[in-house]
Amino acid sequence: MSRLSELFGSNVFNDAIMRERLPKATYKALRKTIDEGLPLNYEIAEVVASCMKDWAIEKGATHYTHWFQPMTGITAEKHDSFINPTSDGKVILEFSGKELIKGEADGSSFPSGGLRATFEARGYTAWDCTSPAFIKNNTLYIPTAFCSYNGDTLDKKTPLLRSMECISNKALRVLRLFGNTTATKVVATVGPEQEYFLIDKKMYDQRKDLIFTGRTLFGAMPPKGQEMDDHYYGSIKPRISAFMKDLDEELWKLGISAKTEHNEVAPAQHELAPIFTTANIATDHNQLTMELMKTIALKHGLVCLLHEKPFAGVNGSGKHNNWSLSTNDGQNLLEPGKTPHENAQFLIFLCAVIKAVDEYADLLRLAGANPGNDHRLGANEAPPAIISIFLGDELTSILEHIACGEDCTSSVFGKIKVGVTTLPAFRQDSTDRNRTSPFAFTGNKFEFRMVGSSASIASPNFFLNTIVSEVLEQFADRLENADDFNAEVNAIIKDVYEKNGKVIFNGNGYSDDWIAEAEKRGLPNLKSYVDAIASLQVEKNKVVMEKHKVFNRNEMNSRYEISLEKYIKTINIEALTMLEMAKRQILPAVINFSANVANSINQIKNCGVDVDISANVELLKEVTTLTSQLKKDISNLEAKLSKAQETHESSYAQAVYYKDVVFTQMADLRATADKLESIVDSKVWPFPTYADILFNV
Ligand code: ADP
Ligand code: MG
Repeated sequence: MSRLSELFGSNVFNDAIMRERLPKATYKALRKTIDEGLPLNYEIAEVVASCMKDWAIEKGATHYTHWFQPMTGITAEKHDSFINPTSDGKVILEFSGKELIKGEADGSSFPSGGLRATFEARGYTAWDCTSPAFIKNNTLYIPTAFCSYNGDTLDKKTPLLRSMECISNKALRVLRLFGNTTATKVVATVGPEQEYFLIDKKMYDQRKDLIFTGRTLFGAMPPKGQEMDDHYYGSIKPRISAFMKDLDEELWKLGISAKTEHNEVAPAQHELAPIFTTANIATDHNQLTMELMKTIALKHGLVCLLHEKPFAGVNGSGKHNNWSLSTNDGQNLLEPGKTPHENAQFLIFLCAVIKAVDEYADLLRLAGANPGNDHRLGANEAPPAIISIFLGDELTSILEHIACGEDCTSSVFGKIKVGVTTLPAFRQDSTDRNRTSPFAFTGNKFEFRMVGSSASIASPNFFLNTIVSEVLEQFADRLENADDFNAEVNAIIKDVYEKNGKVIFNGNGYSDDWIAEAEKRGLPNLKSYVDAIASLQVEKNKVVMEKHKVFNRNEMNSRYEISLEKYIKTINIEALTMLEMAKRQILPAVINFSANVANSINQIKNCGVDVDISANVELLKEVTTLTSQLKKDISNLEAKLSKAQETHESSYAQAVYYKDVVFTQMADLRATADKLESIVDSKVWPFPTYADILFNV
């Protein structure tokens, strides 16, 4: 235990270290900057930098890096060493306040979606002191935001930081109306549960599809999949638990509170959940977690797959983004209270989320979309592509009765008048039984279950923060101008329940009935990533992001272009990889196999013995028929791919072509190849099968 507490955070320049090592005045000033978002002056930065450098060098660091999160969705870093030559041929170790605060990165190869002209390749990184610096691989990592020369954001962190400031301000406005005078900050808190696969590296190395695309593009189902549910929470195999132990240790050193780890539904699938923290730090930590999962797996001869759907036919991986709002005077704003007054406040925050999610469902859908997640959402293992909220019957019924007004009495709850009546206690566990909802209230937080396993959690959180900010502002306006505060609170709840209640759905989100019902309710059903990308061009979405200064219009447009480009490139690489494998591995293998069968027929015939060779002949017919189909599918895919690569009227049109034409043709090619896999000699199949991969760790 003592070893663990020593280990935890040992590579982080955290609050305890800062308090211990910084001069008192500097510590205070830095704390103010962190807590209140005040600008940091250079003198303070100078002292912090020097102290940070000494600490890092003591820990063996030789380099520092401004660590940032470009729009690729992963992180980037450029290392500089601390050394500075002196005139006598020696070096001194230096790190200035300026180097801490601001860096310059040649950003020309990062996606900018037109935000940065090629002649102006410069990008700037700026220290984000709200997320602590840390040491990894002998390098001091400084979390930073990344923007272009003219200040447009080129990363995922800046909008997140902007959205956090925004929601803090709006939530405080509402809190003041409820009489809170002590809170000075509200933070969005996030705990992301991360799913992943671990497979043997020897298998991985033999599969071009896994290497190039992160998922299998071919593969027939093995006789056994996940139907026995024997992997879920099953005992963890030694090799995996050795990996988890190493991973935990490395995460703990970085102050990442990895808490629970268990086997997931699919064979070879696992999950890790950390203890929640601020949205900003949670995002940084999740990036580090994904990165460490990959590097530590390799040390164990394993490969960690973070793709949303590495294997067809078994569950894919997602990320559950648990989100809430918390004040610096210790309140969770989504925690139902014990007094009427606390409950009124809780219901207002709850209704703000309901209204926001209903009115900006398309933005949230986008936040859960990427090319990989197109294989999961709506496929009976993950929430459908329709955004709805699970509240639980009891809480829903409470809202319903409040909305119903004076003359409505619930047989269960009696008369409920917000601000006057104490909410009937509802059992917390009763709110968490539904696992099919994309956005579920789980007692004191919301769980957004649609996020892809490989995705950065920055966008789900900055969209969520921004849209909830917008509604909190509307509520604050209403409440500030109200003559009768309690009556206005009731009126707000009633309005939300009546206008936005359609987004509440407590039933089975995986059922077909729900799809029909959702359509009747007028809820958007954006089926694919490409459909969801269009949300970035919807005027109301541009307005809300711009109003709260999270994105300006250029920044929205750039994300639109980058997302389309990402989709096009992903499908293009997948199609090329399929062609490569089909032409150079599968086709030769099956042709060889049919030649063998043909030879066997001839040989038997040459024996002159009158035997039944119909099985051989049947097999030959079957294989050659499928082989010629395979060849046709290859040619078709080639033709469609080359059309897809031609110029289209817009990048959107091109993305749609990839989705509707190329992607569909890929499925045909796969179907034929998978049929062949299931009839030819297993020894001739040119790469490891699902059975080899999924049941081999
Ligand atoms: P389940 O598997 O039932 O969804 P877990 O216990 O695995 O739940 O994960 C719950 C996640 O929610 C954890 O990461 C936890 O830290 C996080 N969480 C709990 N409370 C909050 C909160 N107030 N804000 C944000 N995240 C939270
Ligand atoms: Mg969960």
